[in-house]
Formats: sequence, structure tokens, C-alpha cells
Amino acid sequence: MTRRDQQQLLVAELGRAALTGATVPELAARAVDTVAEGLNAVRVALFERQADSLVATAAQGWSVGETLALDADSPIARAYREADSTITETMAVAPVRGEGDGLAGVFAVVSVEPVVPDDVVFLRSVANLVAAAMVRERAESRLAFLAEAGRLLGESLEYDVTLSTLADLVVPRLADWCIVDLVEDDGTLQRVAVRAADPGKQALLDALHREYPPVAGSGQPAAQALAHSAPVQFSEFTPESLRETTIDDRHFELMTQLDPRSAMAVPLVAQGRVLGALTFAWSESGRRYDPSDTVLAEELGHRAALAIENARLYRSELEAQRRIAFLVEASDVLASSLDYDETLTALARLAVPRLGDWCVIYIVGPGGVIERRAIEHAGGRQDFIRSVLEAHPIRPDAPVGVPAVIRTGRSELEAVASPISTASDVEDPEELASALGEIAVRSTMCVPLIARRRTIGAILFVSAESKRVFAESDLRLAEELAARAAVAVDNSRLFNEAEQRAEAAEALDSIADGVFLVDTGGVVKIWNAGAEAITGIPSAEVRGRSPGTVFDGWDEIAAVADATPRTVPATVDGRELWLSISGVPSSDGMAYAFRDVTADRQLDRLKSDFVATVSHELRTPLAAVYGAAVTLAERDFTDREGLRRDLVTQIAEQAARLSAIVDDILFVGRLEAGGLRLEPATVDVVDVARAAVEAARIRAAGAEVTLRAVAESSTIETDAGRLRQVLDNLLDNAIKYSPNAGPIEVRVDEDERWTRLAVSDHGVGIPAGELARIFEKFYRLDPHQTRGVNGTGLGLYVCRELVERMDGRINVASLPGRGSTFVVELPRR
Ligand code: ADP
Repeated sequence: MTRRDQQQLLVAELGRAALTGATVPELAARAVDTVAEGLNAVRVALFERQADSLVATAAQGWSVGETLALDADSPIARAYREADSTITETMAVAPVRGEGDGLAGVFAVVSVEPVVPDDVVFLRSVANLVAAAMVRERAESRLAFLAEAGRLLGESLEYDVTLSTLADLVVPRLADWCIVDLVEDDGTLQRVAVRAADPGKQALLDALHREYPPVAGSGQPAAQALAHSAPVQFSEFTPESLRETTIDDRHFELMTQLDPRSAMAVPLVAQGRVLGALTFAWSESGRRYDPSDTVLAEELGHRAALAIENARLYRSELEAQRRIAFLVEASDVLASSLDYDETLTALARLAVPRLGDWCVIYIVGPGGVIERRAIEHAGGRQDFIRSVLEAHPIRPDAPVGVPAVIRTGRSELEAVASPISTASDVEDPEELASALGEIAVRSTMCVPLIARRRTIGAILFVSAESKRVFAESDLRLAEELAARAAVAVDNSRLFNEAEQRAEAAEALDSIADGVFLVDTGGVVKIWNAGAEAITGIPSAEVRGRSPGTVFDGWDEIAAVADATPRTVPATVDGRELWLSISGVPSSDGMAYAFRDVTADRQLDRLKSDFVATVSHELRTPLAAVYGAAVTLAERDFTDREGLRRDLVTQIAEQAARLSAIVDDILFVGRLEAGGLRLEPATVDVVDVARAAVEAARIRAAGAEVTLRAVAESSTIETDAGRLRQVLDNLLDNAIKYSPNAGPIEVRVDEDERWTRLAVSDHGVGIPAGELARIFEKFYRLDPHQTRGVNGTGLGLYVCRELVERMDGRINVASLPGRGSTFVVELPRR
């Protein structure tokens, strides 16, 4: 067998071993044996590339682990560098191809015999078999890795767990350190995970994360991968390429310490959407990335992107659920009380700490004043905050802050806030900011409370101790909370008002004064029980209509009704009343209060009537008595006995008249005090009338007074004396008010029920409009007695009082200038 045949046989055997699934180390060991046998070698080794060296991984003659620098001046290193086989006299080196263009290593052999080209062919065949096994194994391990990665990444839907799993997969297997950056909704990059095998590098990465957050569009590998939506590889990182990917000296210095020798970044793409980028770096291990790594990294990136997307969806789903749960809870809490202040407190408690470390609820009070109504702090420092804020009233015209939110109804988000920005809506922002300095304000948001399209206030949420930065999503949640809160706050306010109104209405109905409310549309809204009682018109008939439907001439009344009560005449339902009315503006229109002073008015007039009448009535006889007495005292009446007697008679008569007036007044007093008792007996009315007529004839000398009785007698049970008093009064009036001394007639008749006494004259008569009033106390048609007829205005009043006490009634019919007839009817039984 030729050497060549033997070599072919050996290669075939090795090929079989490769096919039967020997592992790469096993195959490498056999290959070393094969080469040793086929080439009669003294030294054989497989040198594999590891970092900057070639390391013997299987050997005979050389020892395993034997290391050669890549740039060493040796045929082995040269063959690797040149990626071609080399032959010296007794040495042959063949390349072991790796994936892509690179070499995985070289096979080197030193023989006792000179090496011929056929030997090199044999060596290359062996090297190729090993290379194929290596490639296959790497491919298999990559597949296994990707399968494992897919499984691990799919294991959890938790966002943080997913990111940490990804970092675990990458370090140390695919990198010495790695970085995960994600693209935010606004296009900015957010570094979400860093991981380093070396704890010292972890600290450096954290510093990098803090000081040099990733910037979209920069030279950072992640940014480049994102910009091209394709992997980028820096297989050899040099100080120059490091410069290019850094921003400034400090960045460069940090990166130098991190010492990436080789790096790559792949975009994280899921369902066509670029979520972020994954950056890998080999550092202290000295390894290099080759193009096959890019493929693996891309595949891993693809799986990771799917997992991140799922975790994101899951997280936003969870977040949505949490938001809903929070809002549901908020609705429950807000609905649990209708008490205004309780509602505000509950709202503040809800907001903290879910939506901030402290919060302030502002309410627009009367006159547009913005009041801080509730303050809550997660750490229980609300009293401190309240005391600080209270010293600083809000400037209602501030262009930013709470007043602006209330004015515009639009929220404000200050993601990066400071005490000074938070204090921008008070008179002295610096002072408030320094007072607030103790509380590290980080981020603020302010949302309006809008109910029934009116902004009723605002809520300010402040992030401080938690260092949380508010995002748009927080603002949305705050707005949702505010929307619910505004309704609850509005409801409790309405309820409070309604309660107060109900109390007020109850109070209104318990007072005797009439109270009514006229709204801005001129319509009656409230009409209390007092108003019903005074006017006799029920609330239901007035509400919703103009007060003019109750009071004739309402406009004139409304014109004078102000805070000071005024007495005005008013006609209500045909009745003439005197009302004392006042009106004050209320929030919804005008509130009027009135009382019926008709009786007072009458009393007033009565008093003045009394004074006018009685003083005149008393003065006239008194003057006469005085004059007569003075004459009697001063003059000598020795020879004038007649005159003296006349004067004395005059005094006696006037005194009698005075005493009659006093008697009348005293009698009325007795009547009204209830001190008069009738003494009924069987009385013949005709007899009484006859006696009265006779007496009248004597009193009024020359007057024609007649009696006409329908029956001979008419007896009833009554007080004869009081009946006579009535008749005397009526006859006196008939005489007094008949200046032409016309005939006077008294008629007596009866029917089954009544005995009737009528006194008729042909005197001055009484105007129709006065007929009802002449029976009033002190009422006289001519109070100042211009006609020269005396009287106190008590006669007819006494008549009516007496007749009514006799269970009878008295009426009058009269024609001015023609005479009057007064009729007294007394019951027969
Ligand atoms: P007086 O003392 O004034 O008569 P009265 O109470 O008796 O008081 O009567 C009240 C008023 O009624 C009188 O002032 C008078 O104007 C009117 N009056 C009463 N009787 C007559 C009558 N017979 N004819 C006309 N007027 C009368």
C-alpha cells in the first residue's frame, strides 16, 4: 500500500468517525492520531484561536495548552495569519476553516521525513474534517442556545424578569458585558439593563448608564444599530474606534476602563417594530466577534424582542388592570360620602401615594378665590406643607400653575420640577420655594376638576421622596381620577347646598313673615308658608310665575323694595292690604320678605282719627264751659238773672255732653274688655221703638219722627236697655245728619225668623264707598266736622257690637243727598 493509499484510508476512517457523531474534542484527538500515523510525525497539534493566541487543544509531541502568540515569527502563526498551508522541510501547517471567512485554527505537524505536497493534501483533508465538525458543533450549540434562549425568555411575562433573563443568557456566554436599551414612545432611548461578568465593570456600566444615557442618533453602537435597523460589529475595538463611539473625554475614559475589545449591537425587532438594541462586548476574555456571532446575536435579539414585546403588552395590560382597579376603588371611596369635606379628604388620601408623594386639592370658592382645601402627604407631613402653603396665598392671575389650570381647564405636567417651579403661582415664589426646599420636589402634575363643564378646582400631585418622574401615562390616570373626583365633589357640594336649602326652607316655613325668592328670570322660586298665609295663595299657584300674578302693581313694589322694609299698599286677590316689604339680592335673584301691616295701619289711622275726633269733640264743649264760667266769674249779674241762668244751663249742658262722650269711650272700653253682659228678658220691640221715638221727638224739637209698626206687638228675648241704646243712636244720627229736618221714620216688622227695625231719614246720605266703613270704631265721614255735626265715630260701632251680641245684624242702605235707612234684624228665637 502506498503512503498515499494509506493516507486516504486514514482520512476515510476519520470521516466515518466524524459522521458517527464523535464530539469535536474526540475527533480532534483522533485527527491528531491519524496525522501522526499518516505522516510518521514526531509532533502533531491542533492550534485553536483563543483571543490573541493560538492554543494547542489536542496534541502529540506538543503539550495541550501550548500557546503561541498570533504575531509570533513561527510557520504556525504565519500560516494562521496568511490563512494558507505552509510547508517547510519537516513541517507542514494546514488551516482549519471556521465559519465565514475566518480561521478557527491550524493543524501543525513536524515529521521525521521531509514533507511532500501529497502530505499537505492529507493534512488539509484532516483539518477540513475537524473544521466541518467544529462548524457543525457550533451550529448545533447555537441552535441549542437559541432554543434554550427562546424557552427561558418565554418563561416569564414579567418585564424585569425578562430583561434579567436576557442579560443572563448573554453574559458570559456571548459577551463579557452587555447593555439593553429600549426606545420610548417619544423616540428617546432608555437603558433598561446592564450586566457585566466582572463586578468592577458592573459599577463602571452603572456609572455609564447614569452619566451617558444612550442618545438616539449618536455614535454609540446601540444608536447605530437602531439608526440602520441592522446589526453593527466592531470586531476589533481600537482606541480610535472607541473615540468615534464616545461623546467626550469622560465618556472615552469610562469606555477605556470598560475596555471593549470587540463589540456588536443588534436591533431588537418584533413584528416589524424596532423596540431597542442589544449591545454585546468582549473585554477581559480577549475574545472577538466574527460574522457568525452577528447571526446568532440577531437571532437572539429577535427572540428577546418578542419576549420583551410580550412582557410589555403584559405589563401594560397589568397596568391597565391596576388603573381600572384603582379607578374603581376611587369611585367607591368617592361615592361613600356626600359630605363635602369628607369627600375632599378621601380624594387626597386616594391620590397619595398612588399618584404622588403629596397632593393638594384646590377649590374655587365664592368670588373666584382659589382655596387649598385638602392636603395629604405620604409621610404624614401634611401639616407642615399646609402651614408653609398657607403663608403664601395663590395669585389668581398667575400665568402658570394652579390658576392657569383652573382658568384653561387644561392639565400641566412638569416632569422635571423644582420647588421654584412648584411655587410659581404665589406672590413670592422664592420664599415659598426655600420653605419647600426641605421637600425635594422632583416632578409635578396639575389637573383640573371639571364638573358640569365648569372648572371647580384642581389637584396638584407632587413627586418628591419617591424620586418618581411623572409621565404622560401618570397624567392620564390623574385626569381620570380628577374626572371622577369632580363629579363626586360636585355632588357633595350640591347635596350640601340642597341640605342647607332644605334647612332654610324648613326655617322659612316656620316664620310668620312671607318670604319669597324671585329668580333672575323674574319667576317665583320659593313661596313660604308665611306668604301663603298672608296672601291666601298657595305656593303651587305662585311658583314658576311672576310675583305680579299675586300682587297688583308688583313693578312699583319691586322698585321700592330694598334692604330697609317699606310699607306699601298692595292689592292681593281683590283685598287691599298694607305690606311692609324688603328685598335683598341673593345668589339666584332677589329674596323678598313681607308682613301684613294692614291692621297696624288701621290702628294707626284709628289713633289719629281718635285724636282728631275726640280732641275736637272735647274742646268744643270745654270751650263753651270755660267761656260761660269766665263770664260768670267776671261780670256782675245782679240785674241779669236770666243771662246768669242761661250761662249756668249752658255749663250744665256742655258738661253733660262731655260726660256723654266720656261715657261712650268708657262704654267702648267695657265692650272691648268683655265687661258687658246682656240681660235678656221678654221684650216687646214695638214698645221699645215707641219709647225711643217719643224721646227723640223731645230731643229734637220740631223734627218729624214717626213710628210704623206692622204688628201691634213683636216680642223677642233680648236686653231691652241695649236695644233702646241702639235705637237712640240710630235716631240721633238720623236727626244729626238731616240738616233739612226731613221726616224720620221707625218701622217695625217681622217674619218667621226675624224681627226687623228700620230707621229711615231723608238727610245727607252716605256715599256707597263708605257704607262698609261707617261701622268702624272712630270712623267718621267728616272727621274734622267741617259740616258742624258733632260726633265721636263711636255710635254705629257700638250699635253693631251690641246687635251682634244680640245675635242679630245691622245693615245700611243709603243714597247721598236722599237719605239713609239703617236696618237692625234680631232673631225671633
Ligand atoms: P258719629 O258720632 O260721627 O255720628 P257714628 O258712628 O254714629 O259716629 O256714625 C259714623 C258716621 O256715619 C258719621 O260720622 C256719619 O258720617 C255717618 N252717618 C251715620 N248715620 C248717618 C245717617 N243717618 N245719615 C248720614 N250719615 C250717617
